[in-house]
Amino acid sequence: NNIVIAIDGYSSCGKSTIAKALAKKLHFIYIDSGAMYRAVTLYFLRNNIDLKAPEQITAALKNIHLNFHSRDYETHIMLNDEEVSEEIRLMPVSENVSTVSAIHAVRVEMVKQQQRMGKSKNIVMDGRDIGTVVFPDAQLKLFMTADPLVRAERRFKELTAKNPELTLEDVFDNLAHRDYQDTTRAESPLTRAHDAIILDNTNLTPDEQLAFVVERVTP
Ligand code: C5P
Repeated sequence: NNIVIAIDGYSSCGKSTIAKALAKKLHFIYIDSGAMYRAVTLYFLRNNIDLKAPEQITAALKNIHLNFHSRDYETHIMLNDEEVSEEIRLMPVSENVSTVSAIHAVRVEMVKQQQRMGKSKNIVMDGRDIGTVVFPDAQLKLFMTADPLVRAERRFKELTAKNPELTLEDVFDNLAHRDYQDTTRAESPLTRAHDAIILDNTNLTPDEQLAFVVERVTP
């Protein structure tokens, strides 16, 4: 049987860093589920989809084809054959993604695709509902947290080179807002699976986190 490692947690607390490192070390496939919600959001924004019009949402979802290219262990996501990996990290998407991901029809479609990806391969998937909803039987579940200011500073460093107008406060506010929306939404709210191991990485280096997790992967 194939192995699934599920990594959930708040925004920007290092889920993808540890997920990538783990996938690389174990030769698993890394899947960034957040990138899928972001790509859907980008499509909705570009096509002016009215988020309150269910028939528009359903029609749009039928026109969205998502694919990952696994050239390396970075996320390369294709939205209808266009690589959108950079555009989905920008503020317009970050500001709308938690609203889009709270829509029932969107979640149903994403969960279905994610479950298909984990059917026959060894994967590491990170997100908000991977250990609770997508793969409740995952062999290993992590729930990651980190100090909110430390998270904002890390994300700010990543974004500021390409977005000089962005302030630390903008990033902090966006993370806080998304965490609020993600933990309070009606469907699949972000919560720790009862069998998830908590990993607070505020004071851990990436290497220390990797060692912590590798120790817990059952062969
Ligand atoms: O992981 P990332 O921060 O890129 O995810 C962006 C947003 O997508 C989250 O804030 C959340 O609203 C949504 N998301 C989700 N379920 C997942 C992954 C992401 O609702 N499994």
